[in-house]
Amino acid sequence: MTTPIARFAAVDRVDVDASLSAVELARGDRYLRLEDRASYRAAHLLVRACAAELLGCAPATLTVAQRCEVCGARDHGRPHLEEHPGVHVSLSHTRGHVAAAAAWTPCGVDVERLRPIAPPPLALSPAESRWLAAQDDPAAFLRLWVRKEALVKAGFARPDRLAEVDALEVVPDADVADWSDDEAVGALVVRPAVATPTRRAARLTHRRRQG
Ligand SMILES: [Zn+2]
Repeated sequence: MTTPIARFAAVDRVDVDASLSAVELARGDRYLRLEDRASYRAAHLLVRACAAELLGCAPATLTVAQRCEVCGARDHGRPHLEEHPGVHVSLSHTRGHVAAAAAWTPCGVDVERLRPIAPPPLALSPAESRWLAAQDDPAAFLRLWVRKEALVKAGFARPDRLAEVDALEVVPDADVADWSDDEAVGALVVRPAVATPTRRAARLTHRRRQG
């Protein structure tokens, strides 16, 4: 069992020797803006790169497939690798930036480009609301939000009950990383192999990461 592999990158820095499936190409082409198509493709390539590094194989040997748990469609929903069903993968794209992860336990990544955005009603826990009120950084909500989305994708929270999970609390031994640069923020959550009680997470910080 190797350690999880995760990456956060600007779209123009993603260079992976692999191609997308016909389903992925068709889905990507449905984005109207070229930047959004490029972001979609980069995320789907980056997740191959992460999984290839985890597995010690070439990215071009991996097929990324998706299946929606709600409607059953194959062009969206939780991603998986057709060749390696035991590997957990996650990917996210926003205009200009992408994130991806591959691990042997459930994992989640989320990325959002920095922009003014107000918290959706009922999305924050009381502790998160207090934390946010004490921040003077305009990106504070998005930094909290990407961690929350990553927690949902890693299976720590239900998407319809976001206020019940506190993104400032995570499971010990879970891998939690916060990414940011001048244009986007992202977060990674990887479940530990064995569940343990919750404790206060590392503080949300402005750690810069390249690549
Ligand atoms: Zn669906």
